[in-house]
Amino acid sequence: MAELAFATIAELKKKLEKKEISKQELLSYCIGRFKKHDPQIESALEIFDDQSVIKASPQDGILSGIPGILKDNIAQKGRKLTCSSKILQGFTATYDATASHNLKKEGALLVGRANCDEFAMGSSGETSAYKKTKNPWNLARVPGGSSSGSAAAVAAGLVPWSLGSETGGSVRLPAAFCNLVGSKPTYGLISRYGLVAYGSSLDHIGVLTRTVYDNALVLSAIASPDVHDSSSRGVKKDYTKSLTEKLPNGLTIGIVDNALHAKGMNSEIAAAIEKAISVFEKLGATVKRINVPTIDYSAATYFIVSRAEAASNLSRFDGVRYGLRADVDTLEQMYSKTRHNGFGTEVKTRIIVGNYVLSAGYAGQFYEKANMVRAMIRADFVKAFKNIDLLVMPTHSIPAFKFGEFDVDKLAMDLQDSFTCSANLAHIPAISVPCGFTSDKLPIGLQLVGPDFSEELLFQVGHAYEQATDWHKQYASL
Ligand code: GLN
Repeated sequence: MAELAFATIAELKKKLEKKEISKQELLSYCIGRFKKHDPQIESALEIFDDQSVIKASPQDGILSGIPGILKDNIAQKGRKLTCSSKILQGFTATYDATASHNLKKEGALLVGRANCDEFAMGSSGETSAYKKTKNPWNLARVPGGSSSGSAAAVAAGLVPWSLGSETGGSVRLPAAFCNLVGSKPTYGLISRYGLVAYGSSLDHIGVLTRTVYDNALVLSAIASPDVHDSSSRGVKKDYTKSLTEKLPNGLTIGIVDNALHAKGMNSEIAAAIEKAISVFEKLGATVKRINVPTIDYSAATYFIVSRAEAASNLSRFDGVRYGLRADVDTLEQMYSKTRHNGFGTEVKTRIIVGNYVLSAGYAGQFYEKANMVRAMIRADFVKAFKNIDLLVMPTHSIPAFKFGEFDVDKLAMDLQDSFTCSANLAHIPAISVPCGFTSDKLPIGLQLVGPDFSEELLFQVGHAYEQATDWHKQYASL
């Protein structure tokens, strides 16, 4: 039944409406696929029993009966929540994240918890304390991170959609590595309530699907205003409405030349982006080559801001309130042993770096300076959007890499965020769509980046591109 495995949400909705399949049958089918294929790709930390899944979403809505999986840093009431870390072993979420709540209200079936990098820190999925998720396109390669399990599950045809989270690119990068559509909307559009904080000023929930339409549909289900998140700027609307086969009249696209020709850019990726640009021209867009110079500084800026915020956010995991608690004599020993045993190496390194860049005597040199550059990055984008409607650039500079490839050069791993993290720093929306394959049959992603609240435009342009190409119709075979 390969057909059902890779059916889009739009197709599954029709099948359910026409009663060609029932909710229960579809759910059992997805759970069966996890049982059969997940031992190989290890995308899920847990798959729930089907009756509890159905019971959790009693209402009907725009995602009625459509199964999906959430990254394990998004709270689902009564379910475990580990952020793929040992420090949260045994912790159960006492409330639903607003995104989970909204999904249940729209009838979506939340089938489990997806593996990820520990506390969403990584670009490959390799920092999870529990599992090593494989890329369904090539099992010797990473699926991309940090939303590794969320991407692998959709790419392997286990579920049609998933939620991931982004601090610097963790939805768009795995989407690109796995031939999926991955979106990161404007900061605040999706509530962060119930998303375990990594870098609060950079954190977003994002959506992974096989098509642009499906992505817009899931966003329509989860975006909402929220009194529980003081940074919420949520707007509830139907994001699928803008989708047509055509580009908007008079559309001007800016190609970010300094990203496309950046040092280390894989030539097959660059060629795929150039080919995509000619598709936009054929569809009637005016294309301008521009530079957004501050993108070159975004990875360094992100490195400092994210570590600083992580050090502060992760101080709450002290053995008192959540999960693991070391059994020792004194309170101080309890704090230090719990954190020593509970956090993995990557997380500990980031906490140390974060405290360093915030420390007296260094904060001006690092943290404050990074925040000034951050303001310049945002200003650079605002300036670019005065003359063009949206930007096109690569999502990544190299295709999905082998496990362990960056074990000795961690900084090179951090540079995987070079083209994605500027949108997190600037709070602007961006989506990655499939745009080709390397000669080794590894997926390539193209990124569309727009001004604040331009999600509908990004979806419209992404959808028109998707209709003019066939990349999204190619599936990983397990
Ligand atoms: N790779 C980046 C990091 O490790 C991005 C992670 C993310 O977006 N959650 O910080």
